[in-house]
Amino acid sequence: MAEIQLKSLAHSYSSTPSDPADYAIRQLDHVWERGGAYALLGPSGCGKSTMLNIISGLVQPSEGEVLFDGRRVNEMSPRERNIAQVFQFPVVYDSMTVYDNLAFPLKNNKMAGSRIKARVHEIAEVLEIEDKLYRKAKNLTADEKQKVSMGRGLVREDVSAILFDEPLTVIDPQLKWRLRRKLKQIHEQFDITMVYVTHDQLEASTFADKIAVMYDGQIVQFGTPTELFEQPNHTFVGFFIGSPGMNLIEVKRCAEGVCFGTTVIPLEPWQIDRLELMKSANVKVGIRPEFVELARQPSDDAFESEVLDVEDLGTYKIVTVRLGDERLKVRQSEEFEVRVGGQIYVSFPRQWLKLYVDEFLVQEHQ
Ligand code: ADP
Ligand code: MG
Repeated sequence: MAEIQLKSLAHSYSSTPSDPADYAIRQLDHVWERGGAYALLGPSGCGKSTMLNIISGLVQPSEGEVLFDGRRVNEMSPRERNIAQVFQFPVVYDSMTVYDNLAFPLKNNKMAGSRIKARVHEIAEVLEIEDKLYRKAKNLTADEKQKVSMGRGLVREDVSAILFDEPLTVIDPQLKWRLRRKLKQIHEQFDITMVYVTHDQLEASTFADKIAVMYDGQIVQFGTPTELFEQPNHTFVGFFIGSPGMNLIEVKRCAEGVCFGTTVIPLEPWQIDRLELMKSANVKVGIRPEFVELARQPSDDAFESEVLDVEDLGTYKIVTVRLGDERLKVRQSEEFEVRVGGQIYVSFPRQWLKLYVDEFLVQEHQ
């Protein structure tokens, strides 16, 4: 098991990259600590698989270093790096039994026969495929094959890390949930460094202690699910995490803070100070639907607005309100009574109103 460090890493599939858009990974530094359970979360095409393949050695990065426990591995083959990688689609030997598929990586490593048997049974039990051990892999369903594929990654005890690249894509939803729990359990039991790639935030937060959110070839935030929710470091994290995502409004600087249309949003003095130091005209405020407050009565810090839509989702409702030309989503308890077309007063608790310049969060201590 190893700590994996990516140092000034960049990768372009083009041999003559000329601008940032030619890079699948844009200059990044990152550390996956030893023994951690991590998720790498981001939309399709943002560079997740490229990063995993660089770690495992399937892809040579155009720039930068990969270090395992401080040692450069760029020149090492995938085999020498000793990484287990599980892909989106099953990689199994069809003509072999499930048992032999699982035993294969261990035989390769010259493990003793009795030890192999115990280990194969242990992993088969965890993955609930014990009753299939003596079947040929080609007779399995897609779900079962993928479990075998995962088993082949999990069976090795000596690996530097296990990398999962959207491994549950072909698995049906019910089983997906169970397998995710299992992976977490396996992590707790064996304490292996695991990086789990997904584009699904729920999957990421049920598996991982810490999530790296990737966007456009960069890791824009690395934090706990709570940190990503409460303090999104980048507008993409605000938008991508949460359901619905953060409300983001383009604003301009004005005397007491920022404004859009005729609405003036006051800011904290430190936010105003920091904003003055920054030149960019790309300024946004963001607030999560969970933190916007609605009231039926006016108050000093509330803005009058109109209810455009109410979506009842059982235990809560999502209310859409119009403020100037902007639409905001607000999460409210089921009991809160609102009527489409009605008037309502909206306010933004200061603590939860975030300011973004060039898409990055403006922080008090930077
Ligand atoms: P993700 O796994 O997040 O969906 P990828 O790492 O597969 O993203 O892809 C990142 C970017 O690199 C995408 O723009 C993709 O089209 C491009 N890309 C991926 N693999 C190759 C390849 N073998 N050759 C050229 N471009 C590639
Ligand atoms: Mg991918």
